[in-house]
Amino acid sequence: MGKVGQNHNIANHPALISPLKECTIAVKDNICTKKMKTSCGSAMLRDFTSPFDATVVKLLSDAGATITGKTNCDEFGMGSMNVHSVHGPVVNPFNFSGGSAAAVAAGMCHVALGTDTGGSIRLPASYCGTAGLKPSYGLISRYGVVSYADSLDTVGLLAKDIAQIEPAFQSLNKYDHNDPTSVDEKTRERARDVSQRLEEYFPSELYASSSILSLTIIFSPCLHSLGATILPVSLPSTKYALSAYYVIASAEASSNLARYDGVRYGLRVPPSPGSDLTSTAKIYANTRSQGFGREVRKRMLLGTYALSADAFDNYFLQAQRVRQMVQNDFDRVFRVENVLYSTVSQDESHPISLTSSSEAAAGAVDVLIHPSAIQTAPLLKRYLIDYVQDVLTVPASLAGLPALSVPMKPIPEHSEQEGGDGDGDGWPIGISIVGQWGTDELVLKVGRVVE
Ligand code: GLN
Repeated sequence: MGKVGQNHNIANHPALISPLKECTIAVKDNICTKKMKTSCGSAMLRDFTSPFDATVVKLLSDAGATITGKTNCDEFGMGSMNVHSVHGPVVNPFNFSGGSAAAVAAGMCHVALGTDTGGSIRLPASYCGTAGLKPSYGLISRYGVVSYADSLDTVGLLAKDIAQIEPAFQSLNKYDHNDPTSVDEKTRERARDVSQRLEEYFPSELYASSSILSLTIIFSPCLHSLGATILPVSLPSTKYALSAYYVIASAEASSNLARYDGVRYGLRVPPSPGSDLTSTAKIYANTRSQGFGREVRKRMLLGTYALSADAFDNYFLQAQRVRQMVQNDFDRVFRVENVLYSTVSQDESHPISLTSSSEAAAGAVDVLIHPSAIQTAPLLKRYLIDYVQDVLTVPASLAGLPALSVPMKPIPEHSEQEGGDGDGDGWPIGISIVGQWGTDELVLKVGRVVE
């Protein structure tokens, strides 16, 4: 205390100690908070309060952020339009979809924590006109996040712009020994190396012309004049990704949700009077049939079937094969290797190989850009076409890649039209940027050009 020069010690600067000091954060209701209930949008956990904060909540609080509240979600994260919740559906505030995107769009918080298993950050972001980042799988801790499908579940961030996502992402991008899928420091370092090398291919001129780029990114071939080279690529397994995703996600969900047994925690529905009070099987059946909503029960049945002896080869294993094919497709088009699967070269100073830009489109791409969703926000009454909405987001989930949805600026001649029912009508449109594993910073940087 009171040492001479203390005020000049840069390490004590408030901005470094509390980089999120002015930031308010809403938390999706499947992420544990000890001061607020964590219901997962389910009757099963309606009154559940966690005895601890999820690592992500703790990290953000430690960085100075204020946690303002919990946001509604589809039950246990199953859905994309926030219509399968015990608390009712979320209404899109753009015109006054998931609760976290709606909270950001409505200005209720600066940043929202979400989870994305197959698109639940990117799709609501696209529908509500916000930015939403699904980071590389394994970068951000899942400790204290209620599992839906562990091999796909990823915690991410939503905000009105990328400038607000970046500091929160940096606070969360840390190894956590409590999460067995958290990626170790060495691999993170190798990924940072990849990102830095790729940034050489994104000259500052590209960013200087951001408004032009955002209008032309899809429709115009003149991007190369801004410094980027547009290459068409083929990801032929994409068409199988949706089916594989639903088999894998449902199988993992059926196993994860077995823990809600009416005995240990959460809802407990006792057998009706007159029946055998000692029967735990009755408690189990009553609790699960009343505690889970229709969509969740459907997924558990599908998942249990996919894992049954008769169906295992044809469904579960087949879906895993497709997952590998999707992964291979991405690896083929990206300029850099996936550091999770590549081996460290003998030459420690150049552990990652960059393929030459003169090569054909295969292996020459730094990021992929595509629309986030097949349509603008669907009307509540039309949500039955639910599963198809995920067709563009699940490939990056299966491959564990970083993917960012950013709102595309309105194209003047289209912006005057009345908004409404998901048919390209003046409602927000999200553009997705997908990068190789661990190139999250680069993905955010490219996103800044589009937003
Ligand atoms: N719609 C997808 C599903 O229901 C994705 C959900 C999510 O990302 N949480 O599984």
